[in-house]
Amino acid sequence: ARHQGKNQILFFDPQLTERAQRRLTQEHDILQGLEQEQFALFLQPQIDMASGKLVGAEALLRMRQPDGSYSLPEELIANAEEIGVIGALGRWALEEACRVLAGWQKRGIPLPLNVNISALQLRESGTVWHLQELLERHRIRPGSLVLELTETAQIGDAAQAKSLLGALQEAGVAVALDDFGTGYANLSYLHQFRSLPISKLKMDRSFVSMLPDDDTMVRIVAAIAEITDLGVIAEGVETEAQRDWLLARGITIGQGYLFDGPLSLADFEKWLATLSPS
Ligand code: C2E
Ligand code: CA
Ligand code: CA
Ligand code: CA
Repeated sequence: ARHQGKNQILFFDPQLTERAQRRLTQEHDILQGLEQEQFALFLQPQIDMASGKLVGAEALLRMRQPDGSYSLPEELIANAEEIGVIGALGRWALEEACRVLAGWQKRGIPLPLNVNISALQLRESGTVWHLQELLERHRIRPGSLVLELTETAQIGDAAQAKSLLGALQEAGVAVALDDFGTGYANLSYLHQFRSLPISKLKMDRSFVSMLPDDDTMVRIVAAIAEITDLGVIAEGVETEAQRDWLLARGITIGQGYLFDGPLSLADFEKWLATLSPS
C-alpha cells in the first residue's frame, strides 16, 4: 500500500487494471466528498417569460474543488453511475433539496424545486420509499418537489413505468420529462406516456439553440406538448429572439442564461429576498 495524505490509503495491485484503479479512486473521491460535505446544489431560476416572474428553480449538482471552485456534474454523475455510487449521491441531492424546500415553506415561499434523477436511479429499490419518507419527514407540500426524469428510456416497460410513477404521484412528487425530444422519445413511447402521471416536458436545449432560424424541431416538440396536454419548460434560453419566438408559440416557461445561470443557494436566496411577494 502506498500512503497518500493522512487518511487516504490507495492499494496498488498489479492485478488491477488501470481502469479499475481509476474507479477505486473515483469511488473514494465521491464517498469522501459526501462525508466532507463537498457537494452543493446550485439553483437556476425558471421564469414566466411573459411576466418575468420567478415560477420555480432547478437544482443542479456541484462538487467543491480544493481550490474553492465548483466542478460541473456531467462527468461526475456518469462516473457515479458506472461505479455504482449514484444511489448515495442521489439520496444526498434529494435530502438537500427537501431541506431547502422545507426552509422556503417555513418562510411562506410557495416555490417548487426541481431535482434531476435518472430513470435508473428511480428504479433502484428503495428510492420511492426514500422519497416518501423524505416528504413526510420534511412535511413537503404535495407537488412542490418535482423530479426531472433523465434517461427516460431506461424506466422499463409500460407496466413498470406506470407503477413507479403512480407511486410517486401518490407520495405527492411531481414528474417532468427531462431532455425531451432527445434519445428515445419515439411516437409509441409518447403514446405510452400519455397515460402516465407526468406534469411537464423540458424541451432540450439543443432545440432551443436552433431558434429562431430553424424552428422545425421546436414546432414538433410544441405540437407534441399540445397533443399530450403537457406544460413545456424551454431549456437554454440565451437570447431575446429565442424568448420571443417561444412566447409567440405559447411556451411561457423558460430557463437559461438570458435570465440567470445556476446560482449558489446563498446567492439564490439573497436574490429571492429582494423579490416583492406576488
Ligand atoms: P440538464 O438537466 O439538462 O440541466 C441543464 C444544464 O444546462 C445545466 O448544466 C445548466 O447549467 C445548463 N444551462 C442552463 N441554462 C443554460 C443556457 O442558457 N445555456 C447553456 N449552454 N447551458 C445552460 P449542468 O449544471 O452542467 O448539468 C448537466 C447535467 O447534469 C444536467 O443536465 C443533468 O442531466 C445532470 N445533473 C445535474 N445535477 C444532477 C443531479 O443532482 N442528479 C442527476 N442524476 N443528474 C444531474
Ligand atoms: Ca434537468
Ligand atoms: Ca435537460
Ligand atoms: Ca442534459
